[in-house]
Amino acid sequence: MKKENLAIMLDSLEEIAVYVIEQDTHRILYYNKRVQDVNGNVGLGKICHEVFRENCSECPLLTIGDRRSSHVIHYRTSFGEVADVMANRTLWDGEIPAYVITVIPHKLEFEESQGLEQIDRMYTKSLVTVFNECIIANLTQDYYVNCQKDRMWTQIPVRGRFAKENEHYARMMLHPDDWEAFSQFFSRDGMLRIFGEGKTQISKRLRRRMEDGTYHMVEFTAARIAYQMLIAVNLTNNSYHMIEHDRFHAKRAPESGNFDELIALGVSTVAPEFQEEFIRKFSRKSLLEKFAGGEKQVSMEMRQIGNDGEYHWNATQAVRIESPYTDDVLEITMTKDIDEERFRQEENFRKERAAKDLLEAALQKAESANLAKSDFMSRMSHDIRTPMNAILGIAALAQAHLYDPKRMREYLKKIEVSGTHLLGLINEVLDVSKIESGKFELEEAPFELNSLIQDTVSIVQPEIREKNQNLVVELDEKIHFSVLGDEQRFRQVLVNVLQNVSKYTGCGGRIRFSASEKADGGDQSGVYQFVIEDNGIGMKQEYLEHIFEPFSRAADSRTSKISGTGLGLTVVWTLIQQMGGRIQVESEYGKGSRFVITVSLLKDDAAKCSGGKG
Ligand code: ADP
Repeated sequence: MKKENLAIMLDSLEEIAVYVIEQDTHRILYYNKRVQDVNGNVGLGKICHEVFRENCSECPLLTIGDRRSSHVIHYRTSFGEVADVMANRTLWDGEIPAYVITVIPHKLEFEESQGLEQIDRMYTKSLVTVFNECIIANLTQDYYVNCQKDRMWTQIPVRGRFAKENEHYARMMLHPDDWEAFSQFFSRDGMLRIFGEGKTQISKRLRRRMEDGTYHMVEFTAARIAYQMLIAVNLTNNSYHMIEHDRFHAKRAPESGNFDELIALGVSTVAPEFQEEFIRKFSRKSLLEKFAGGEKQVSMEMRQIGNDGEYHWNATQAVRIESPYTDDVLEITMTKDIDEERFRQEENFRKERAAKDLLEAALQKAESANLAKSDFMSRMSHDIRTPMNAILGIAALAQAHLYDPKRMREYLKKIEVSGTHLLGLINEVLDVSKIESGKFELEEAPFELNSLIQDTVSIVQPEIREKNQNLVVELDEKIHFSVLGDEQRFRQVLVNVLQNVSKYTGCGGRIRFSASEKADGGDQSGVYQFVIEDNGIGMKQEYLEHIFEPFSRAADSRTSKISGTGLGLTVVWTLIQQMGGRIQVESEYGKGSRFVITVSLLKDDAAKCSGGKG
């Protein structure tokens, strides 16, 4: 080929710049048209670094050493956004050692997508990974720590101001077409905005420069983490770097150092009951074993002593970081304060427990009420059958003696007694169901307490007399007798209790019935106390707790012989509650019982007076 043809050919390369410099002096020996077009200052004999000064910091000759050629990538040069700059050794004019410099616009080389995806998958599984780099940043306070400093060819300092270094990183390592996207998603402002909107992870595929100058598509991931302490650990080297330590550690560990020593210090701050587990999980040996066994993370919740001298709950997690570029086993330990979470958990647990207890109690109550009910049913059928049989039997007898008036009178009397008993039984059942379904209201009308007491006594008197019991009535004469209330219901209360007292006391037993007004009653209303006591069969303490429950009767051979429904005192208790009063029972088995009823009643005169005056 003729020399002219060669020159014409080189000048016709529109995109490729070619020039030759002398090895020793860097004088320009040749340049093609493209060089001239880009830089008008170029000229034969001029010194390269004087003409192309702005590119000298990344000159391929800086790294050529003894090699035949060298290659660098330049950004935003006058030769193009991204350019491959190469230097090749040659002999000029057959004798002068020289370099041929070529500047060619960069063509991206993409790895086979298969291979890329594999790397991506691996990385998204890791915590925070930027290809070979893993950077943990505190965005608010604008600082970061580069936790994979093993491969420092990117020249990112181990720690520093995040916003500045991050931008520098982008300019240095990313394809210029992706700078915009990087700044939108991964700049400090960008991430603060996106995380501020509630997102917890940002992932984008961007073109990143490799060591050989080519670009690979790489997935960048930023994940938001909220931990009070972050430690980057290289288990193989037994070294660590604290990234965040805004914690309550009483014994502050150095920011970086020997990992075994860090664990030894750590365990001394852990509550004794967690120390064994702490070592079993987080010692270097255990972590290496676990990670070698394929585990990706190790975690535990524990109590650790803080600056305030108190134990605090924290959750600690060691997450394995995968890197295809180093065989070292890397992990990040994260610790987060969970005092509040724990408190809430315990609170919930307590509430759940209480609800469960309540349910259980209700269930038990329902069960025992159910049991009592079926017990009652069998007793009721017995109680009803007895007078019913009597009535039918006597009726049959009466049929046979229709013309014997003496016998007929006797039979009719017996039928009347049984019928009355039956009616009483039915009435009580109806009463309870009426009260239980809330279909009744108390009246408020004037009545006299002394006549109420007299009436009560005369109703129960026949039974008392029949058993030859000794009844003493003590009525405090100073009582204010005229009151307002539901006399009929009140009478029912007193009769039921007095009847029981007689019923559960043997023949010749003693019964005392007293009424008094308590001194602190005041003018408008009076607090009255009625005491009804006996020296009868008494009750065991365990039964007293159930005495007012519907259908309950003391499990006692002596009681079972006495007819009853277990409803009388339920009626009493419910009525007294409605009246705003109170009933107390004391009893000693085999000795006797004492019922004390306390009610506040409006004084009738007082009501009239205040009405008149007003
Ligand atoms: P009952 O119809 O069975 O009398 P109550 O509700 O009136 O039903 O009374 C419940 C149970 O309380 C009785 O079955 C009895 O075991 C016990 N009881 C009530 N009053 C007395 C008393 N004065 N002395 C001993 N036990 C009593």
